[in-house]
Amino acid sequence: MVHIKDEILSKVTKPARYTGGEVNQVIKNPKDVKVRFAMCFPDVYEVGMSHLGIRILYHKINDREDCYCERAFAPWVDMEELMRKNDIPLFTLETKSPLKDFDFVGFTLQYEMSYTNVINMLNLGKIPLMSKDRGDDDPFIIFGGPCAYNPEPLADMGDIFVLGEAEEVIDELLDLYINWKESKKDRKEFLVKAASCEGIYVPSLYDIEYNEDGTIKRRIPLKSGIPDKIRKRFIKDLNESYFPEKMIVPLTEIVHDRIMLETFRGCTRGCRFCQAGMIYRPVREKKVDKLMEFAEKLLKSTGYDEISLTSLSICDYSDIKNLVLSLIEKYEKDRVSISLPSLRIDSFSVDLINEIQKVRKTGLTFAPEAGTQRMRDIINKGVTEEDLIKSVRSAFESGWSTIKLYFMIGLPYETMEDVEGIAHLGQKVVDTYFSIPKDKRNKGLNVTLSTSCFVPKPFTPFQWKGQDTTEMFIQKQQYLKDKIKSRYITYNWHEPSISFLEAVFSRGDRRLSKVLIKAVEKGCKFDGWQELFKYDAWMEAFRECNIDPHFYATRERNIDEVLPWDFIDIGVSKEYLKNELRKAQKGELTRDCRLSCTGCGITGFTKEVKCFNGAIFNKVQ
Ligand code: SF4
Repeated sequence: MVHIKDEILSKVTKPARYTGGEVNQVIKNPKDVKVRFAMCFPDVYEVGMSHLGIRILYHKINDREDCYCERAFAPWVDMEELMRKNDIPLFTLETKSPLKDFDFVGFTLQYEMSYTNVINMLNLGKIPLMSKDRGDDDPFIIFGGPCAYNPEPLADMGDIFVLGEAEEVIDELLDLYINWKESKKDRKEFLVKAASCEGIYVPSLYDIEYNEDGTIKRRIPLKSGIPDKIRKRFIKDLNESYFPEKMIVPLTEIVHDRIMLETFRGCTRGCRFCQAGMIYRPVREKKVDKLMEFAEKLLKSTGYDEISLTSLSICDYSDIKNLVLSLIEKYEKDRVSISLPSLRIDSFSVDLINEIQKVRKTGLTFAPEAGTQRMRDIINKGVTEEDLIKSVRSAFESGWSTIKLYFMIGLPYETMEDVEGIAHLGQKVVDTYFSIPKDKRNKGLNVTLSTSCFVPKPFTPFQWKGQDTTEMFIQKQQYLKDKIKSRYITYNWHEPSISFLEAVFSRGDRRLSKVLIKAVEKGCKFDGWQELFKYDAWMEAFRECNIDPHFYATRERNIDEVLPWDFIDIGVSKEYLKNELRKAQKGELTRDCRLSCTGCGITGFTKEVKCFNGAIFNKVQ
């Protein structure tokens, strides 16, 4: 057990990040269990504790008597410095045990820019960085989460990757481990056994052969019986799936400090840039009764006074109105507020949020994603300018005066007119506000236009496209800045060099692991935090490893190229993605598949579950 002296905690910002001891934290005696699992989030406590997935898994594992799951987060730089100075290894919050004492150390990979933190945490935990260097006394390192859908950049560090929804596979893996531990066989034996579980990928059991031009020639299984393709795992019936009745209540403020009630998984809209919309198919919903039951239990066990309804696009939940009205009716008197984190661009959504924010109107956020209809058709964002203007008009008339609009620049086939279109759309929102009589609108108009830099992601129709160069992004951002004339508009933009790195690692292969290690040696960590991002150190790391980052980020792939993640079967077929790319090129739309199936392939992937399982209505509201 690690002892953290008060004099150390008194020197760091937000010491509550390192103390544990929160309400609903699980305490067990490690000696009473067969498996110790350290659940790690490669970012600070306030970010990690806001993530629903690790909260679900934490309680699910702890519901087993034979396992104990604890938590660890990336220490902020001040704490890390003191830990290294005082030779304190990275420890878990519950029992203050060093990471190396666990059977499993699991990381959720939510964004590529956390990869250096993963490596830094392993290093701080005194665990060998490379899978091949770990011995019988070392933990098994497991990676999961959306970025695990391209596991290759971390393939040399991960012993095991979970592909798909971890709740579905974790019990199998833990049982397998307990049997293996009792059999006292060697480490490799367990990895081979694990590889036979559907949804589990063990990278050390495969080798990669490359072509002369640096592209992948083929993957070679190093053992017979190892699957060529790995199928993702997913929960068949969300109503029957595990959801915790208690959640840890942090002692310090976190990013999402409220109850998170997950309403459904998946999305049917088919936006062509969106990875989540493809990897989480099929759409599965929870019933309102079930959600009301969980809301009641969680309110009681946490004392929170806010419930956030989560999903990829909350207004697409087929019984959303009933859910929202039921929650309001039941909890209004207790002053429990409801929040909807992602609003669809239509008047139905504005009416709904109006029910929720009757008195206190905070800002409204919409994501048209692109400034012109041409560009929105290319990305299959089924939203028109008319939809947006109608929605903001209705919002202004209902009393809102702060509107945020999210866009991407650098989308495939984008022209400067498309970029300029963002400024025009912002201006039209301003004009809509002023077209409403003064006595029918609130004061203080504030329109924020935010642009992120497009990053092509695996398992999307744009997975073959090159990203814009940093210079192109800067030029487009400057151009857009010049086109915005209204003093009511604020323009925010993302740092293109961070998005460049994100593009490298999102579609990278296992040759990048040495760059990651080199970058960590040069002090790179918390790369998603702009103030800590060290672009020059990254470029040095690429140079010293003799790897060209443009090969991964800005290069357009041939449609027949073997992609590093091709061996994963997410259920949506590659043919479907290719066809979507062809349609994008022509600006053709693909309908929302709630209207009728568009043949993505997921129904052939599994016979056990139908799309929209649990949905009250299958139609688009
Ligand atoms: S199989 Fe059809 S209905 Fe189901 S997610 Fe794919 S396109 Fe949509």
